Amino acid sequence: MTNFYQKLLLIFTIICFSNFGFSQSNEIKIKFIGNCGLYMTDGENNFYIDFPYKSGAHKYMEYDKSEIDNIKDNAIFIFTHRHSDHYSAKLLKKLTGQKFDPWNINELENLGETIPNFGIQAFQTSHKVFGVSFKHFSYLITWHGKKIYISGDTGDLEDLSKIKNIDWAFVNPWIYMNAENEKVKIDAKNFGMYHLYPNQEINGEIPENLIILKNQGEIITIPY
Ligand SMILES: [Zn+2]
Repeated sequence: MTNFYQKLLLIFTIICFSNFGFSQSNEIKIKFIGNCGLYMTDGENNFYIDFPYKSGAHKYMEYDKSEIDNIKDNAIFIFTHRHSDHYSAKLLKKLTGQKFDPWNINELENLGETIPNFGIQAFQTSHKVFGVSFKHFSYLITWHGKKIYISGDTGDLEDLSKIKNIDWAFVNPWIYMNAENEKVKIDAKNFGMYHLYPNQEINGEIPENLIILKNQGEIITIPY
């Protein structure tokens, strides 16, 4: 009889430990949704960057409606700016959770006080379309000791060139090209190039530490 209970206890213990192991995965998962739209989670907190945007806006990527339906409750939404290929007020209205964009940037930098092992730094960066300047911010997220840079639409290298030891830099093609042309070093271990047109091809040799984000749904894992 004792033996039976001992076995039961052992099985119970194993189940508990495996569940524990599962929830403590110690990795940040980043899903590429489309354009500059990213979903980032550590299993505890959920962030959406430049998402939801207006699907197909300015001939950029469309996405499946299920992406909206699957948005987590009480997520945190962070936007680089309010162009429709990055941001949709209409879709946001239906969502609960905290929302940040260039118009409430001061509140954003306080996020680190409520989320453990998380910090975000905002850099005002230039974004001009036909000579008109838009209020635009790029971000450096430090999460579980990992540094993640988000360029948004800017081609501005000024702040980016000063940041050391970035783990993952999400950059648009033109800022990446600017860095190459101006021989400015971006101190990042890995690059995710985002904000491509559907079917846009990137020519030339692609370095090993650069992923071209053209497959929507692609997941990047950052162990910590
Ligand atoms: Zn824009």
